[in-house]
Amino acid sequence: MFNCISLNSRSFFPFVWDNLRMISTSTVGLCKQQQQQQKYRPWLNIEQAKVKPSSSIEKNRQDREDLAAAYRGLAYYGLSEGVCNHLTSRTPAKNGEGEVMLIVKYGLHWTEVTASSLLGINIENGSVLEGDGEPETSAVEIHSHILKTNPSIQSVFHTHPPHATSLACLEDPTLHMIHQNSTRFFEDVAYDCGYDGLATTGNEGARIAQQLHGKSVMFMGNHGVLVLGKSTAEAFDKTYYLERAAELQVLAMSTGKKMSKLPDNLAKFVNQQIENDSRFLVAHFEAMKRIMKHTYQGDFTS
Ligand SMILES: [Zn+2]
Repeated sequence: MFNCISLNSRSFFPFVWDNLRMISTSTVGLCKQQQQQQKYRPWLNIEQAKVKPSSSIEKNRQDREDLAAAYRGLAYYGLSEGVCNHLTSRTPAKNGEGEVMLIVKYGLHWTEVTASSLLGINIENGSVLEGDGEPETSAVEIHSHILKTNPSIQSVFHTHPPHATSLACLEDPTLHMIHQNSTRFFEDVAYDCGYDGLATTGNEGARIAQQLHGKSVMFMGNHGVLVLGKSTAEAFDKTYYLERAAELQVLAMSTGKKMSKLPDNLAKFVNQQIENDSRFLVAHFEAMKRIMKHTYQGDFTS
């Protein structure tokens, strides 16, 4: 009889399903509040299944693997550009003294990035504390300022994805709420129209960080986009969906017909639905890591 119960049977046997789940090994040791949370959000098991690092060295290693996977994953999606642009992540320093900012060393293609090849940069002064090689100057300038002024943010991604960047090249770069993907960014986009050349001076990074105004996405006029994430998985997922939302808008605009914009209350509602379901971004990133294990030469975890 049990063999005949399909996944859809959850809705018909909620009591049986819940109790089966409550005695599974994934819930052992959880407090009542956590068990209650899992009752309604069982996908949290995906995150809880990850081994929690017990030291700064382990956390540093785990963050390096995640960021290396993000570099390769965005290249896989066609969102890298030559050997430019940069993805960064803060992590405990290997020596246990403070934090470093992980970043690709200049000249490495994103498909070549591995956990051990990433540099660890002093966030305060830009010096290389971990690894051999040099980072791109403008990358350190932009990312270190953002990490310093946004302590809850772990990862900062700067890319030139074709559709999002094409919107950034318009006089009005507004990302309109015209699709489910667009609503992910409802009231969470900053627009910087003050492009002033490569960010190699001491002021451009601070200016860009200030222009964010608490948003997690920025369209950088005549340049590209910035995405901030509380985790590397979140920054990866957001970067992907930002480009997808922009692509749909560019295609819709290319018809020359009037776009159908969602009302604010509906866009906000869908935004909250997606925000409250962390299953999406975690599953997306974990799937990408599985694909990256056998897509490019060498293992990104090495
Ligand atoms: Zn750029």
